[in-house]
Amino acid sequence: MTVYLDNASTTKPCKESAEAVMLALTENYGNPSSLHKMGLNAQLAVDSARKSIATALGCEAECIYFTSGATESNNLAIRGAVSAHGRRNKKIIVSAVEHASVSETMDSLENQGYEVVRISPKNGVFDAGDFVREADENTCLISMMLVNNETGHILPVKEVFSAVKRRFPHIITHCDCVQGFMKLLVKASSLGADLISLSGHKIHAVKGVGALYIKKGVRINPIISGGKQEKGIRSGTESVPLIAGFGSAVEKLASTIAQRYERAYELKAFLLDKLSGIEEVTVNSPADGSPYIINISMQRRSEIMLHYLEQNGIYVSSGSACSKGAQSGVLAQFGVNQKDSDSALRVSIGCETTEAELEFFVEKLKEGIENIRT
Ligand code: PMP
Repeated sequence: MTVYLDNASTTKPCKESAEAVMLALTENYGNPSSLHKMGLNAQLAVDSARKSIATALGCEAECIYFTSGATESNNLAIRGAVSAHGRRNKKIIVSAVEHASVSETMDSLENQGYEVVRISPKNGVFDAGDFVREADENTCLISMMLVNNETGHILPVKEVFSAVKRRFPHIITHCDCVQGFMKLLVKASSLGADLISLSGHKIHAVKGVGALYIKKGVRINPIISGGKQEKGIRSGTESVPLIAGFGSAVEKLASTIAQRYERAYELKAFLLDKLSGIEEVTVNSPADGSPYIINISMQRRSEIMLHYLEQNGIYVSSGSACSKGAQSGVLAQFGVNQKDSDSALRVSIGCETTEAELEFFVEKLKEGIENIRT
């Protein structure tokens, strides 16, 4: 039996997405830039996916730009925005719990002379005022994720962005929405973001494709030069198969966001109830976080427990998969002590997760706690 509980790392592509990929690989394999019919058909497939993603995000299709994934979207958004601002505004505000594709981009800009202000939560909670108070004439960008990928914390993005924009309309607002898109009801207009990063493989599409939403009228500079695809914002021949697969997954999920949220909420409650009977377990995720991500600690080293569970066909994560298990410091930011960080496990729910799977996970976790020495 395979119990896949690592959906925040990546998801199983849905049938519709895989079929769309296959169709573009085997039949619709033209280059969208070619002037003949096969090129046009490929362009139509890209535009159809663009429309599906735009509809889900509640924006116009022309605001969606395809990339190779959210790592690229985040780099493009941040580097592209500060470069478009020129050398006048040198301050950037960012949360201290961002994914490495944001935090390391910030480190690199800091090395180039930007002032990067990192805002930490207090007692596990972000205060919108802490971000807003930092904003000033000299600020060019503010970047905040919607849902933290390690703990499921939801950041006060909307509140911060609207307050910042009211006082300083020149500040570009960016949101890494990877763990929120198609899971929470996220609309571009309600987030109030100028730039939104999305990834395909977290929502049952394939790996290697993502998108950046750019609000109409907002100007960013490209970070890749070349053939001027995607209106010059992201040069390089479009990956028609991956883009078509992304569009199909979004189309499939679009009508069930509320239903799936409800289901994830029930599953989280079910899991927490089962875990409450295990003395060694503490929960690092907040009650009001995303129901799709549950981070726990259990007084046994994460990697040892992870492999114990794996031997039983259960797949979870010891943190952010992108860092290959290395600690990112995000748990410490949320007030988790070192000992609990060393024993953290992330369980992340997907479309196909069932109560029976979670029950099996808890049973094997208990067994692991008994068998693994502290
Ligand atoms: N941001 C967040 C919050 C993520 O969880 C991830 C993936 N772990 C990324 C960005 C990077 O996405 P991708 O794998 O598409 O580059």
